[in-house]
Amino acid sequence: MATFTRRGFATSILSLPVLATLPSAALARAPRGPAKPVMPLARLDVGRFEVTFLSDGFIDFPFALFTGATADEVERLSAAHFVARKTGVRRGFTAWLIRDGDQLMLVDSGPAGTVSKTSGRLPSALAAIGVRPEMIDAVIVTHMHVDHIAGLVSGGRANFANAEVYVDRREVAHFTDPAKGAAAPDLLKSSFATAQQLVRLYPRLQRIDGERQITRGISTIDLSGHTPGQLGLRIEDSGQSLLIVSDMIFHPAHPVLPTLGLLFEADKAAADAARMRFFPRAAEAKALLAATHMPFPGLGRIVKDGGTPRWLAADWEYTG
Ligand SMILES: [Zn+2]
Repeated sequence: MATFTRRGFATSILSLPVLATLPSAALARAPRGPAKPVMPLARLDVGRFEVTFLSDGFIDFPFALFTGATADEVERLSAAHFVARKTGVRRGFTAWLIRDGDQLMLVDSGPAGTVSKTSGRLPSALAAIGVRPEMIDAVIVTHMHVDHIAGLVSGGRANFANAEVYVDRREVAHFTDPAKGAAAPDLLKSSFATAQQLVRLYPRLQRIDGERQITRGISTIDLSGHTPGQLGLRIEDSGQSLLIVSDMIFHPAHPVLPTLGLLFEADKAAADAARMRFFPRAAEAKALLAATHMPFPGLGRIVKDGGTPRWLAADWEYTG
């Protein structure tokens, strides 16, 4: 490229529209980007815990998939938050890896290609940080919608052969109930089928009754509503804390519109009530939240901005 003399710089700016006339060798040194997308990865220390945010990919939720507002209203709201695409609201699938000394704990496992072709990247994200599936000691399942559990099983096998699995007891009861599965809308069939496989393939599965300590500094919290036994996770050590809240918030407009739901919420009234209870509490506590579908890494807070609650993405915590 031109040397950065004052004149050269001015010239290069002025010549931008005719960049294509640059010698091809110069362009060859500036490729567009990797042929394969690199999965984003973020890391946050919470006291002694190292939390790595891993993406399994993304999906565009059609505007008509939401409840509590018309498709047009959802599109307008989404556009106002710059999350609207032609095909819907672009949402990520984040899973978390918690390292506690030598112990590795995974929280959720992504849809693994089941609900969108642009998912299924968790295994390569784990490999990129040197983690093989058999190294995972525990998997905490926040809830049994297929976009959170499909990565646990494939081809009739458990993907994390050495892992204890933790799921809320109400969640297991609901998603393995044949009558409920038969009555469920098509959208939910794969969640029921995958949940049943999961229970069969992980005989050491532990059913949790709402809130309990998993290990010192990590406890489940009851976030039921979106599903009958949705769990969150409180990670706390040395005065620092993080709440993994799964699908408690999945749209930036949620704090002002807690009745915004999704068609596959079996009990909309319960889901709405849970959001209406949780958002003011989270704002009051100034809690740092990690949410599966919020723009990667999905880390932020609910704040009161002039009396109006809103989602505020967290500043990145730079570490040395
Ligand atoms: Zn989800």
